[in-house]
Amino acid sequence: MPRRTKIVATIGPASDTPAILADLIGAGMNMARIGLAHGTVEDHLARLGRIRAAAKATGATVGVLADLPGPKVRAAAFPESGTVLTEDELVALAPAARGDTSDGRRIAVEHDNLLVDLRVGDKIALGDGGVELEVESLDGDRAVARVLYGGRLLGSPGVNLPPERFTAEVPTAEDMVLIDAMCDAGVDAIAVSFVRRAEDVAAAKRAAGTGGPMVVAKIETQSAVDDLERIIAESDGVMVARGDLGVRCALEDVPHYQKRIIRVGVAYARPVITATQMLESMVLSPRPTRAEVSDVANAVFDGSSALMLSGETAIGRNPVAAVATMARIAARAEQDFDHNGWGARLGRQQLSESQGADAAIRITTSLSAAAWRAAIEVDAAAIIACTNSGATARAVSRFRPVAPIIAATPSEGTARRLSVAWGIQAIVVARQGSTDDIVWFAVEAAAQQGRVKSGDVVAVLVGSPIEPAPTTDVLRLVRVR
Ligand code: PEP
Repeated sequence: MPRRTKIVATIGPASDTPAILADLIGAGMNMARIGLAHGTVEDHLARLGRIRAAAKATGATVGVLADLPGPKVRAAAFPESGTVLTEDELVALAPAARGDTSDGRRIAVEHDNLLVDLRVGDKIALGDGGVELEVESLDGDRAVARVLYGGRLLGSPGVNLPPERFTAEVPTAEDMVLIDAMCDAGVDAIAVSFVRRAEDVAAAKRAAGTGGPMVVAKIETQSAVDDLERIIAESDGVMVARGDLGVRCALEDVPHYQKRIIRVGVAYARPVITATQMLESMVLSPRPTRAEVSDVANAVFDGSSALMLSGETAIGRNPVAAVATMARIAARAEQDFDHNGWGARLGRQQLSESQGADAAIRITTSLSAAAWRAAIEVDAAAIIACTNSGATARAVSRFRPVAPIIAATPSEGTARRLSVAWGIQAIVVARQGSTDDIVWFAVEAAAQQGRVKSGDVVAVLVGSPIEPAPTTDVLRLVRVR
């Protein structure tokens, strides 16, 4: 059976050639992430084009996630091999000029008001929090800071200035322009950085429009954790953005927040991406640490829909090895995943949560639970979810069934969006008019593609065309001819 936990890989200078992109897909990349914090819109569109071309060449379904910069400040790029800052040394910080770079003596910060916003005594975390500085003096054209915790800085790390002095709206004006450009270009998902409350996600969704890309909320601030349920209800997917979360919240809270975000996200049938530093040492080394291997496996046990690689594939020495390593660890962890325990807990939670919800949600919730139970009882070879938007497939995916989930959809966009959803293999089928035809052609397509075989029993979920709202209201148990 194909791996159930999906892999999102960030594309950057180390991975942005047709050959490497094809190899990343071959190694197990299901969704490619484009960071929009650097480069021009033309650069992003060219990268999107190369990813689409590689997917076409390999015949794979690969989604593309465009990650908005949000109000994040970054340093201009460090040299390729990185720069090590050592505890107690002094380093200058200055606003970056166009085309500026950073090094071990001077960090160029992409924030024009840097010297106005900083105060003596401010603590500044760099990257995903490993390196921390304290400002000791300020003069007309630079600040001087002492290194409290040292470490290596690679690429263009984030510069976490004190949040109380940064009150920018989310999405920012720049984000809004990028949302427009990315929607026009047809990306499959947009990630919103530094979401603080559900209204931030609602604003991004309004900008993306109906039928646009999925809007993924990055949970990386304490206020987002505090408003978690409302944010998840508003979004189409969620990311445990552990890098910034670990800077803005107590580090020891991060594993607990990870489990909570995954549990609530999955209960709402939203794909949950666990991100950052999963195989960090592979940026430079051919093999991960034991702790990283355990972290990836535990993220699978926690129920993550997808695992994300950042620097490992964007600027790392061997992006393909990082994806292949993650795929191997995830596949091994899945052998010990407690499918039935997860489904039973979720079943109870769902039934109480759907009480009082509107009829379409109650019907879909109840029937997807019925499909999960029926698939166990008849030992189904697959659960086939016939779906336009992908919602039916995601509704059954949240039960984490043992049986493979096949999404039969007439929409290529839906198939790509499902590339980040746990356990779903999408097949594109012709649109049909009646429930009988939708079921018959979906089973036929699954058999033709060798996903099920003659004599197998499959559970098929489908929405009746006569229901007013999109509702999954038919469950059939079908013997494959
Ligand atoms: C994170 O902070 O963990 C994250 C995924 O965001 P970014 O890589 O954009 O900083």
